[in-house]
Amino acid sequence: MSNLQKQTDVILIGAGAMSATLGALLKELAPEWEIKVFEKLASAGEESSNEWNNAGTGHAALCELNYTTEKPDGSIDISKAIKINEQFQISRQFWAYLVNSNLIQSPQDFIMPIPHMSLVQGDKNVAFLKKRFEALSNNPLFQGMEFSDDPDKLAEWIPLIMEGRTSDEPIAATKIDSGTDVNFGALTRMLFDHLQSKGVQVHYKHSVKNIKRSSEGGWQVKVQNIDSGTTEYHTAKFVFIGGGGGSLPLLQKTGIPESKHIGGFPVSGLFMVCKNPEVIAQHHAKVYGKAKVGAPPMSVPHLDTRYIDHKKSLLFGPFAGFSPKFLKTGSNFDLIGSVKPNNLLTMLAAGVKEMSLTKYLIQQVLLSNEKRLEELREFIPTAKLEDWDIVVAGQRVQVIKDTETGGKGTLQFGTEVVSAADGSIAALLGASPGASTAVHVMLEVLEKCFPQHMNEWKPKIKEMIPSYGVHLAQNAELFQEIHNATAQSLGLIKKEPVFN
Ligand SMILES: Cc1cc2nc3c(=O)[nH]c(=O)nc-3n(C[C@H](O)[C@H](O)[C@H](O)COP(=O)(O)OP(=O)(O)OC[C@H]3O[C@@H](n4cnc5c(N)ncnc54)[C@H](O)[C@@H]3O)c2cc1C
Repeated sequence: MSNLQKQTDVILIGAGAMSATLGALLKELAPEWEIKVFEKLASAGEESSNEWNNAGTGHAALCELNYTTEKPDGSIDISKAIKINEQFQISRQFWAYLVNSNLIQSPQDFIMPIPHMSLVQGDKNVAFLKKRFEALSNNPLFQGMEFSDDPDKLAEWIPLIMEGRTSDEPIAATKIDSGTDVNFGALTRMLFDHLQSKGVQVHYKHSVKNIKRSSEGGWQVKVQNIDSGTTEYHTAKFVFIGGGGGSLPLLQKTGIPESKHIGGFPVSGLFMVCKNPEVIAQHHAKVYGKAKVGAPPMSVPHLDTRYIDHKKSLLFGPFAGFSPKFLKTGSNFDLIGSVKPNNLLTMLAAGVKEMSLTKYLIQQVLLSNEKRLEELREFIPTAKLEDWDIVVAGQRVQVIKDTETGGKGTLQFGTEVVSAADGSIAALLGASPGASTAVHVMLEVLEKCFPQHMNEWKPKIKEMIPSYGVHLAQNAELFQEIHNATAQSLGLIKKEPVFN
């Protein structure tokens, strides 16, 4: 059975952080536009955006060592760190605008202040961290960062990590108190509540099966109602494919030239979750280490204080792994099904290039809990297996494409907006830095797909995001003003958590 529905202005596929953000931006910029959302699961924020499926780090390059690289002359390149920090300031401003306008409430339900730290061991790594600290602390975006290689100071900052440490190896850390823990699941749910209150029709348990050009212009989306089994056809002038790992197969169905020669490489993950309240209480930071040689950037180990379900929690990981699924709730045929004649060579080239990565990920899947405990003990020397459970994290699908610098089948670690030349459809691929930079990435979607509206929308965008179009690293005063104002609006001033 099928039925044809009337045309709408916008269809958002997937109820994750990205569709939520794009919907919320559009509701402010073009409130009269009709928006429909189709999500195959029963509620919003259940895949990668769910609080248990990602690490909840407000990525602002305050602690992630892979955003700063050492150049051949020994100096530190901080350009990527600056870019990511500026992008996170954009998210903070939009979230603060939504709170100030009373469109979402209780910011502490989704964002909490938490120190961000980087921790390294060994002479070479300590020297790198010191140089990195010097390069960053000269920049206005990273003001307030501290460095220490004094074990007594470190014991004050991270008692759980320093207790019982017997190694003589030099150890050092940086710490900055303005870091955040973001519950992207809670934020996504809040944004969908807000969208529904503004008349957006959100259809849960509706799976998008096909997307093709509509005869009236725009796109026709074939949707299966999972409960009734019926098929519906909806048309829209603009479609956003925000299916997370499920975006690539949907993008391929559009047949647009921009969808060709692109593949996806799925990476799964696991976290260790502490269940001993005494251990949880002894730690108060997100502490990022250095990726092991040969390990991909998304497997950097970190020990994180998190706020989930209004409770302070402690998570370690993620341990990366290999699974052929593109979504946690996906199918074992996702990877093979994404290989098409147009991306076969790209995929094969990546397969050859990334053999060692695949081997590494399979080894990670096969790790025993005892082996995982060994890795945890590099952070918490006194850790006991009985204090920790394992939870399965979300799937990331890294983009594979042909690039000038990397050649055929190059694995990408960032996010990528792919859109049709006429701006009528866009998809978000890739996973990193992820939800933290959702507002920046969705503004990129608007710029690519609605260039004709940007002049009209600019004043409203500037009202919501005063730093829009400005490099905050070069405007220390504006950065300070924005950072203080957003901290105030998002309740990030008080240092002590309000939870029990
Ligand atoms: C282990 C891990 C750690 C991470 N850590 C961080 C972090 O610390 N900080 C950070 O900022 N980001 C992090 N990320 C990335 C972040 O989680 C993602 O970038 C973000 O959640 C992506 O949001 P999304 O809306 O694109 O996708 P999702 O949240 O996955 O939402 C996509 C939705 O689309 C639906 N869908 C898919 N296909 C269809 C279809 N055919 N029909 C209907 N619905 C469909 C899915 O069911 C899902 O609900 C991490 C990710 C992982 C996996």
